[in-house]
Amino acid sequence: MKPASKGKKAKIMPLLPLRGIVVFPYMILHFDVGRSKSVKALEDAMLKDQCIFLAAQKDSGEEEPNRDDIHSVGTIARIKQLLRLPGDTIRVLVEGLERAHIVSWENDDPYFTVSVEEIRTSRVLRSKSEVEALARQVVEHFERYAKLTNRISPDATLSVSAIDDFSRLPDVVASNMNTGVEVKQGILAEASPKRRLEKLLDILVKEIEILEIERNINSKVRQQIDKTQREYYLREQMKAIQKELGDHESGGDEGDEYRTRILEAKLPEEAEKKAVKELERLQKMHASSAESGVIRTYLDWILELPWTVATEENLDLGHAAEVLERDHYGLEKVKERMVEYLAVRKLRHGLHGPIICLAGPPGVGKTSIARSIAEALNRKYVRMSLGGIRDEAEIRGHRRTYVGAMPGRIIAAIKQAGTRNPLILLDEVDKLSSDFRGDPSSALLEVLDAEQNKEFRDHYMELPFDLSDVLFVTTANYKEAIPRPLLDRMEVIDITGYTDEEKIHIATRHLIPKQLGLHGIPEGRLKFETTAVREIISHYTREAGVRNLERSIASVLRKCAKELVMDESVILRVNAKAVRKYLGARRFLVGKASEADEVGVARGLAWTPVGGETLAIEVTLMQGEGHVELTGQLGDVMKESARIARSHIRSKAEEFGIDPMFHKKLDMHLHVPEGAIPKDGPSAGITLATAMVSALTGIAIRHNVAMTGEITLRGRVLPIGGLKEKTLAAHRAGIDTVIIPMANKKDIEEIPEKIRAKLRIIPVSQFEQVLRYALVQMPAPQQKTACPEPVVRVTPPDASAVRQKP
Ligand code: ADP
Repeated sequence: MKPASKGKKAKIMPLLPLRGIVVFPYMILHFDVGRSKSVKALEDAMLKDQCIFLAAQKDSGEEEPNRDDIHSVGTIARIKQLLRLPGDTIRVLVEGLERAHIVSWENDDPYFTVSVEEIRTSRVLRSKSEVEALARQVVEHFERYAKLTNRISPDATLSVSAIDDFSRLPDVVASNMNTGVEVKQGILAEASPKRRLEKLLDILVKEIEILEIERNINSKVRQQIDKTQREYYLREQMKAIQKELGDHESGGDEGDEYRTRILEAKLPEEAEKKAVKELERLQKMHASSAESGVIRTYLDWILELPWTVATEENLDLGHAAEVLERDHYGLEKVKERMVEYLAVRKLRHGLHGPIICLAGPPGVGKTSIARSIAEALNRKYVRMSLGGIRDEAEIRGHRRTYVGAMPGRIIAAIKQAGTRNPLILLDEVDKLSSDFRGDPSSALLEVLDAEQNKEFRDHYMELPFDLSDVLFVTTANYKEAIPRPLLDRMEVIDITGYTDEEKIHIATRHLIPKQLGLHGIPEGRLKFETTAVREIISHYTREAGVRNLERSIASVLRKCAKELVMDESVILRVNAKAVRKYLGARRFLVGKASEADEVGVARGLAWTPVGGETLAIEVTLMQGEGHVELTGQLGDVMKESARIARSHIRSKAEEFGIDPMFHKKLDMHLHVPEGAIPKDGPSAGITLATAMVSALTGIAIRHNVAMTGEITLRGRVLPIGGLKEKTLAAHRAGIDTVIIPMANKKDIEEIPEKIRAKLRIIPVSQFEQVLRYALVQMPAPQQKTACPEPVVRVTPPDASAVRQKP
């Protein structure tokens, strides 16, 4: 680095060591000077010719540099202005004149004085093509550099491209760059303009490369930062808008609000921890994101569940009995059983016995008994229908990872109750079904099991909830359909249907007063006569319970209400005629059975989930090849019964006076009308066989006889279920003789007294006996060899037939 001296005379002047900057010729800049040595140098220079030598310190951290610590090449500058700042600092404005190097050190005190010599270089003009090319490169790169750094004013780039003195160019460019002192010093110290350009180009290329890498990294980082910043900004804006609108629900308040709610809710430890954790997640989240909505809903569920809220149970048996008696007519056995159940609970200090299951047809008061029990015990009452639930998740909830996940119905019922010890009525347990989505009954088992329900875990809540204080009561229409494992944990209390007399009592004591109240009809303005109730029962309803009766009463009262409003003075008497006026034509005709005796039509008795029914079974024969056709929506078991009946008749054809080859010559069509009601079960066996025998022999069946019983291949009559409902149905249909299996004799006492008195009930053990009572005459056997039985018209047995051995 030997400066090219042109032999210009050396000048003596003060030296100002610079820290962190390099001043180039033609550069005007200001900087602050604080060191007293430097201040002195400036002041003295100012007094002389305002010229000062500016040279960079090698180590800018050095407070008191020696000669060796200062670069020997620097710039002679003119001081243009001095400005005293508060303290001892001076702000100085200088203009670089010429690069120069120290020839000798004259003095070190009170400041450095040096003898310097200018480093003159001749102007380098555009004509030199190599230099020109270099210069262009430098300008181009500088422009690129300026764009990348963003810190260089457009003026500076413009002025750089306008420079035509190539010895000046690198100085201007270098002075505008943000590089380190050493790099700049390197340019300054280079005497040859061409080499200066080369060096500079090198530096520019390197700098540009670094800047580009930086820019890449930056843009990646920025993309991320931008997104967060944008969200932050928008959220802040939203807060401001909400504040303006006076909407305090959200924003920062929301978190605080949840926190106080969590503290006040007195949650169990685990639930509280979970709630706090979720709240923390919520606060980190964008307020309007879908996820935060999910968390909010979840927090609300946790906070709204009655973890510790309970009502005080009233185990006063007298009170319970009173409430049950007040709300329900009859049902003595049920009421008694309920009171016993409560007594056991009391003795066992609230520990659970088996789950009560009230089983019976619709409208017999299962739900309303459960409600009364809840009231008697001072528990909240919630009804939960299980009908048609196929999915385990309906009981136990969906995991929160599902879109739209919710807790299951048990947790929902608890929330609805608002206490942790309600009575939950699980309605229609017999309608639970299971499929590929899981078995709801096994989830329900867990709910009902006292061992497991202390820590019931809903999939959605993910927290254990203690269900052990909940009193579960279930109902079913058809107890045989209850899933077996559930049934094993239950104590079934059967509620059978009501007789007409019972219905009348229920209507007058409960349903009518209740409906009058609901319709706002004042006392004394309407009298509902018993004849009206009877009319509704016989001709507008056909049911085991009283649901339709209540509905019909309600529709009569609606019509009455209108009349009462239109004429304020009228007092209405509702009798049978009025019922026909309000409800239209009779819908059911009782006594349909009292038609003529017919061939091939036998009356059976069926049990359906809505109580008993009478079913006519018709058989017709046609010339043919022995085909059998069965219609009327018969189930498989009933179809089998028909085949068994036919086989039995074939085996006894001659005894019954029937052509033994009938199964080859005759086609048989068997039909059970009212096809809308699906029919199944073996209990129509004897009825099917009787209708067949009647059709095959041409002997009519008595119109006032109905029957029920399973038949075997050998003609034995096997027991059936639902005797009470069936006899009630027979009574409703105007039948007076009912043939039942001998084995059901023990069930006769379940039949209400009044019905028993009106029906002849004949237990039989062999099919042949059925024929004796059902056919208007016994068929004569075909073979003369068989012991002949006289063809007689059997007189109907008297009322004491029950006690007779038929
Ligand atoms: P279920 O639950 O068995 O279908 P509900 O409990 O809904 O029947 O009863 C239907 C209506 O009949 C209710 O209004 C109920 O109060 C009334 N009810 C049923 N049985 C009786 C009864 N023995 N005494 C008084 N009201 C009854």
